[in-house]
Amino acid sequence: MKAQPKASHFVNGDWLEDTAGAPIEVIYPGTGETIARLHAATPAVLEAAIAGAVAAQAEWGRRRPVERARVLMKAVEIIRARSEELALLETLDTGKPIQETRVADWPSGADALEYFAGLAPTVTGETIPLGGDFAYTIREPLGVCAGIGAWNYPSQIACWKAAPALALGNAMVFKPSEVTPLGALKLAEILIEAGMPAGLFNVVQGRGEVGAALATDPRIAKVSLTGSVPTGAKVYAAAAAGMKHVTMELGGKSPLIVFEDADLDSAVGAAMLGNFYSSGQICSNGTRVFVQRSVKEAFLSRLAARTAKIVAGDPLADETQFGPLVSAAQHDKVLGYIEKAKAEGARLVCGGSAGNEGPLFVQPTVFADVTDTMTLAREEVFGPVMAVLDFETEEEVIARANGTEFGLAAGVFTADLARGHRVIGQLAAGTCWINAYNLTPVEMPFGAVKASGLGRENSRAAVEHYTQVKAVYVGTGPVDSPY
Ligand code: NDP
Repeated sequence: MKAQPKASHFVNGDWLEDTAGAPIEVIYPGTGETIARLHAATPAVLEAAIAGAVAAQAEWGRRRPVERARVLMKAVEIIRARSEELALLETLDTGKPIQETRVADWPSGADALEYFAGLAPTVTGETIPLGGDFAYTIREPLGVCAGIGAWNYPSQIACWKAAPALALGNAMVFKPSEVTPLGALKLAEILIEAGMPAGLFNVVQGRGEVGAALATDPRIAKVSLTGSVPTGAKVYAAAAAGMKHVTMELGGKSPLIVFEDADLDSAVGAAMLGNFYSSGQICSNGTRVFVQRSVKEAFLSRLAARTAKIVAGDPLADETQFGPLVSAAQHDKVLGYIEKAKAEGARLVCGGSAGNEGPLFVQPTVFADVTDTMTLAREEVFGPVMAVLDFETEEEVIARANGTEFGLAAGVFTADLARGHRVIGQLAAGTCWINAYNLTPVEMPFGAVKASGLGRENSRAAVEHYTQVKAVYVGTGPVDSPY
């Protein structure tokens, strides 16, 4: 199987190669075979990308928003027309089951492009009456934005960042994770086919140092990162030194709280979605499942029964529901967390070892009797490992749910909607669900509090993060000067 792109980078509207860059081997996690060989961006490639973006942005930023929107809508049409080909590429890049990549990855990316195409022409300033004189505001693009992506939703992340950036008149230089470099290249190609001027969306490959070069370049106005908390801290610091805008979508250890009056089947289904979808490699996953003690055993037995029926296997097979992890490094890391949980005394309910479907599989795993101090309750695993903790009272569970440095997401299952709102109101998390989990429609803001990040993606809220306000005072009479 091969998925070799024409070149490693897409810069100034065309493919670009520089074999002097460090080699990057792209592995299909389903089998471990190499599907493409790329090179990291050299300083010459980065220079071409940034200089090209600066040049292209000036004209793009002055265009009527409806004209920009038209290009994005054409891209949406192309993505939807090629949905099967794109889902296949995403599965090869990530190892996620084709069942998922058909409905989640590019479809969500297309939604973002469509949403921001529609929104951009409605973004206006305000007029401020000042008693004769007046002021008005303009929402201007920031300039050239850098996007740096994680490997779990490579194409969705590229679209979620490119859509608001481009719709609102910015250019973008995007660096995918070196583990999953293929989807963003496809987006660059599609945007050109849709009529986007060259230089507005550039893709450069590379590891952390390429991301760091973008975060420190004075021509970059903003850095939007999806990645881990330690990387976020580094990128935020680098951006601060250059007084750049940032959006940080980082890791989590989110609580999913199940009260005894909850619809248990829905709560079990949500906990499974929030721990096993994409083999658990989702930042907002509800990886600390707090279950009220009176329903704990009922919850666990239904969970174990349903988990046993998960169809793991060939990611390209229609019936497969559960695929491998993205890389050998992630596979080893997740197995390490499983061993630690066993050693620290958590009760293994199901799973607990590597799967036998391929080299990078880990079984969907559930641990019960997890306590707040165990490593499994404190650190982000980013794999299919659910920690079930039990609790007695509402007050207690709120305090424990908040007892973490993270603050990305939270969920509550209860039949008592007043309680649902009351509890969510006290949870320190940026993205929350009541009687649902992990649904992230583009119309709803997505983002975090505390160490999990800042800024918001999607929704109207993203407008503030890809534009800046210019205020203009207009004098209408003689200048009143004491001099
Ligand atoms: P990393 O933090 O390791 O990497 C994220 C990106 O940053 C990669 O492209 C990486 O390059 C790059 N990078 C690494 N070091 C630097 C640096 N010093 N300067 C600039 N860029 C750098 O995350 P992962 O790729 O391992 O992704 C998993 C993490 O992402 C998890 O913590 C997860 O929670 C989080 N995540 C958050 C989401 C959210 O929306 N909140 C969504 C999805 C994931 P490379 O890897 O190529 O070296």
